[in-house]
Amino acid sequence: MNISTEDYILTKKQNDNHQTIIDVNGTIIGGNNIVAIAGPCAVENNDTIYKIAEQVKQAGATILRGGAFKPRTSPYQFQGLKLEGLRLLRDASTSNNLLVVTELLDVYDLEDVYEYSDIIQIGARNMQNFPILKEVGKLNKPVILKRGLSATIHEFLFAAEYIMQAGNSNVILCERGIRTFEPFTRNTLDISAVPLLQQLTHLPVIVDPSHGCGLSELVPSLCKASVAVGSDGIMVEVHTNPSDAISDKEQTISTKDFTTLMNELKPIANAIGRTI
Ligand code: PEP
Ligand code: MN
Repeated sequence: MNISTEDYILTKKQNDNHQTIIDVNGTIIGGNNIVAIAGPCAVENNDTIYKIAEQVKQAGATILRGGAFKPRTSPYQFQGLKLEGLRLLRDASTSNNLLVVTELLDVYDLEDVYEYSDIIQIGARNMQNFPILKEVGKLNKPVILKRGLSATIHEFLFAAEYIMQAGNSNVILCERGIRTFEPFTRNTLDISAVPLLQQLTHLPVIVDPSHGCGLSELVPSLCKASVAVGSDGIMVEVHTNPSDAISDKEQTISTKDFTTLMNELKPIANAIGRTI
């Protein structure tokens, strides 16, 4: 395919100052401050999500993540608490003054996910699920669109165009690693995607290093790289006790390590004239 930036109509950056800034109940995404989104892979139970929410808030996160509808490779793996998970996530976040982002896996669950979330996540596996993109395009809630497992930048941007064309201009692009020939890491985090997407589009760009590498030991370094490269946010899988996490424990960091990380990210953000 002949790729031309002329093809990008709604996502295209028109000039250097063209930047979409999304205000989600007072939390700004795409501005000078870098947003920290943290929480477990999946909502597991009330006690755990509450403690995680409390501790990530203390560390400086402003948005709580957690899946209630989980896209799992095997149908025998935990599929999420569904509606109950949404309720627990909402309660934990409201009590701790955090926003909620959670994945919409199927258009069938749209009403529930809409009701309990502040930001709707479209996961990597659904990046080219065009019917779901058109549906979230009709909503008045921001959407975090994750890059597909093997999506090119071109495909990623056209997925964003689908949402925007349907009427929703509050799209946040999330680089979360792509599948390469390297099996050591779960995915290869494409750090170059951040400045590239920021040059091509006016949309906020965030990074999810947890799914991006699949290894908790690498997550802090990749968060630092993401902040240094200019990401507008980070999304990190965090748990009070990662070894007990029901899903994605290998890539989940502890709330304690997240607190240390947030402190280490501050000088890096400051060095590029930003805050976190
Ligand atoms: C997630 O963030 O919970 C998730 C499933 O990520 P991805 O869609 O990037 O695999
Ligand atoms: Mn996960």
